[in-house]
Amino acid sequence: MVPDLIVLRLGELVLKGRNRHRFEKAVYDQIRKKLRPYDQLSFNRDFGRVYVELNGEPYEEISLHLKKILGLTSFSPVYTAPLELAPIQSTAVEAMRKLGYLPGSFKVSVKRVNKSFPHDSQEMNKLVSAAVLREMPGLKVNVNQPEVELKVELREERSLIYSQVEAGAGGFPLGTNGKAMLMLSGGIDSPVAGFLAMRQGLKIEAVHFHSYPYTSERSQQKVKDLVSKLAEYGGDIKLHLVPFTNLQTRVHQSYSQNLLITILRRAMFRITEKLADANDASAIVTGESLGQVASQTLGSMNVIGRAVEIPVIQPLICMEKQQIIRIAEMIDTFNISILPHEDCCTLFLPPSPSTNPNLRVVKSIEKQMDWLEHEMDQAVSQTETIWIQAGQQSEFSNFF
Ligand code: ATP
Ligand code: MG
Repeated sequence: MVPDLIVLRLGELVLKGRNRHRFEKAVYDQIRKKLRPYDQLSFNRDFGRVYVELNGEPYEEISLHLKKILGLTSFSPVYTAPLELAPIQSTAVEAMRKLGYLPGSFKVSVKRVNKSFPHDSQEMNKLVSAAVLREMPGLKVNVNQPEVELKVELREERSLIYSQVEAGAGGFPLGTNGKAMLMLSGGIDSPVAGFLAMRQGLKIEAVHFHSYPYTSERSQQKVKDLVSKLAEYGGDIKLHLVPFTNLQTRVHQSYSQNLLITILRRAMFRITEKLADANDASAIVTGESLGQVASQTLGSMNVIGRAVEIPVIQPLICMEKQQIIRIAEMIDTFNISILPHEDCCTLFLPPSPSTNPNLRVVKSIEKQMDWLEHEMDQAVSQTETIWIQAGQQSEFSNFF
């Protein structure tokens, strides 16, 4: 038995009123776009839900796409039966078997839309659960807190039967809350920060600083691969590759002590802010997590953050590493992130970077670098921008 349709639930708990309409339209558009290659599908919208008739298209394959649609709360494969008791009962049993495990408890919820059907919903609840219990001994009914709810909708021309609920990506539909620049390294954290920002409805453009030839092409390829993974949720993503070598070398030549990292990171933020302005983005997203390394103490973050006026969003700030890793595994960036790479910031690292820099001192050092502004503008003007699509990963991970 294969499903005949899919019922999709859009972010029903999240919003009210006018926003909700906008939200549903955005998710719906995204669903249509992602499923465009399956041309036999037909769609019906209905109060926060979408019914997709499969017409022979493959459910399993389609479900993999659905799991990556932002704003989609959950979905269920639906089996249909004619409006007659016996086929409804046998389809209900099959739908329960399709779960692939024996749940601790269940209940049947029948909704009779077609009032000409001879049994009312109360009777049907009993008739269907009796059939299921007969075929699946050991199963228990729990009407208050069932582990599984077997739903039967008696429609005008047929009945819809389903029990399985698959999680969608949840959150807000893509881009409904504006656009931000994601500062993306090759590490574990920033791709996760990017995913969480996207799930919160932000469209992102990625910004990566490289110090080629001190950092290799491979490090850049790695970043492209990470962006390609994020693009599975967000459609094509713009990646800005910023050459940081000149600025970095020059800063290092004139100052190479414990505030070096602070100064370089402030420059990175300033450049990203310039790119944000040029690309109509209204925030910067980074992958900092409080306390993780020297530049991620509150003191450092205070001094670094003050380099810019634009809001800086740090989705991971209060998260534990384990939690971050779990998300990285879920979105499939973890295995790319753990490949070896050089990060521009770890080059020329001073022996003891300051964990509590002084803003006044930092500003006065920067002031002496009267060429700094010019170098930042140079970096912006030499930035290379490319579009990255989903499924564009290189074979690069096989090199290791
Ligand atoms: P990640 O795992 O994301 O690399 P991290 O724990 O290594 O983060 P840092 O190296 O201190 O931490 O970097 C903090 C944040 O600064 C990163 O999460 C990222 O947003 C940004 N960042 C660091 N290096 C780069 C880079 N080369 N290009 C763009 N952004 C960067
Ligand atoms: Mg890093």
